[in-house]
Amino acid sequence: MFTIEELATIPLFSELGEKELEFLAGAVEDISLVPGEYVAHEGDGRFLAVVVAGTTELTKVVNGVEQVIGVRGPGELGGEVPMTLGTPLPASMRAVDRSRVLKLTVEDFHTLAAMAPEISATVGAAAVERMEMLRNATAQPPAPALFVIGPRLDAGVHTCDSFLRRNQIPYERVDPDDAGAIARISGGTGVAGLYPVVVLRDGTRLNSPTMRSVATAVGLTVAPGRAEYDVVIVGSGMAGCCAALAAHAAGLSAVVLEKADKAGGGTTYSYGGLWLGINHLQEKAGLADTREDTVAYMRHLGGGYQVDTHQDAYIDHAPRALRHFTELGVPFQLVRGLPDHYHGHAPGSRAEGRMVETALISGEELGDWQDKVLVSPELPMGATFEEAIERLVFLAKIDAGLAELDAGKGIPHDEAKRRLGM
Ligand SMILES: Cc1cc2nc3c(=O)[nH]c(=O)nc-3n(C[C@H](O)[C@H](O)[C@H](O)COP(=O)(O)OP(=O)(O)OC[C@H]3O[C@@H](n4cnc5c(N)ncnc54)[C@H](O)[C@@H]3O)c2cc1C
Repeated sequence: MFTIEELATIPLFSELGEKELEFLAGAVEDISLVPGEYVAHEGDGRFLAVVVAGTTELTKVVNGVEQVIGVRGPGELGGEVPMTLGTPLPASMRAVDRSRVLKLTVEDFHTLAAMAPEISATVGAAAVERMEMLRNATAQPPAPALFVIGPRLDAGVHTCDSFLRRNQIPYERVDPDDAGAIARISGGTGVAGLYPVVVLRDGTRLNSPTMRSVATAVGLTVAPGRAEYDVVIVGSGMAGCCAALAAHAAGLSAVVLEKADKAGGGTTYSYGGLWLGINHLQEKAGLADTREDTVAYMRHLGGGYQVDTHQDAYIDHAPRALRHFTELGVPFQLVRGLPDHYHGHAPGSRAEGRMVETALISGEELGDWQDKVLVSPELPMGATFEEAIERLVFLAKIDAGLAELDAGKGIPHDEAKRRLGM
């Protein structure tokens, strides 16, 4: 919380009288930020920010690439353009180092401006300056880091295109028949042979390069930080990340090698439900379970095809793993109200308690990693099971229908559809 004395030292408020400062002290929000944490994102609603300590930067996505378009230090403003024009935020604001930022809502800003009209004039003047900065940022497309010469439909060119796009490297693709462009890029030297030909800004030519050499050329990390690790993990999906976390917790050094440009693998597409019997969250919620029932249920699902040693290992170790990763800080939660498949028909099944998921966290908690993990392009049923529960309970009705068929009741197709509400 800001004191009146602190507020009086901020240039924007230095001319305010005691009454206005008193109003401000009760109205402003005092925000402490760690490096990388956002005050607000491009497109958010209006507010006025003043940097009180530390450094923040303004970023804007231009042509798909996030660019830093300005830096704001102590005493400088953020949000003055939307405050003046009544538009959403044209840029994001995030902390470069540990920072303290004062935030004022649009309503409180207007109340203050009614009490001290000079505030409006100062903020308006800052907005004009900022709009000039924005105009410059958006008028200049980012200079290409390299040129990719080759026909658009060539397989190698396509691979290179998608690699550069996914890694947000600005580049320009040039058709080999475009003599003017070739002359501009490579001093007239023609291209022949395998595509693509990648031309760096210093004129270096890479003929049909691997994506590793392109990555090296544009400064992406292609080698781990150390020469040796205790554990080397290939793949950054759920399995790889769990292995890395467990190795780290055991005091071992671990490296995860990922072939894709972002971490997460197929796990990103998953619904994220972990099914396991006799788990500690179930116990904590007072939902009874036994090993015998879990075995009986899994045997039923396995239909004779299960490998008992594998099944036993899963039943015994999954609850231990859940507890271990919980202790390491993964925020698991029980999915309430979701029955096992064929509940009421399958022996040992439970009405709820065996499905677990992770609670949502803010992407901002990931800091620099926020942009390095895959995000599923679709969340058909919801981000969590909790959000999707109504549809999932509908699936349980399908299970019930199948169970009846399984029990030899031979429900006619139309009748089955009617009962399932389809
Ligand atoms: C739509 C959908 C919903 C699902 N829902 C659930 C669910 O609710 N519950 C559940 O338990 N399961 C679910 N699954 C299944 C579950 O997602 C997968 O079983 C699990 O994510 C596999 O994890 P993984 O780490 O083994 O593999 P992945 O997550 O696929 O990770 C493998 C990683 O290895 C990388 N890689 C591969 N080869 C190399 C190489 N040579 N060098 C470097 N890296 C390499 C890949 O790029 C990838 O990043 C679902 C799956 C889908 C598609």
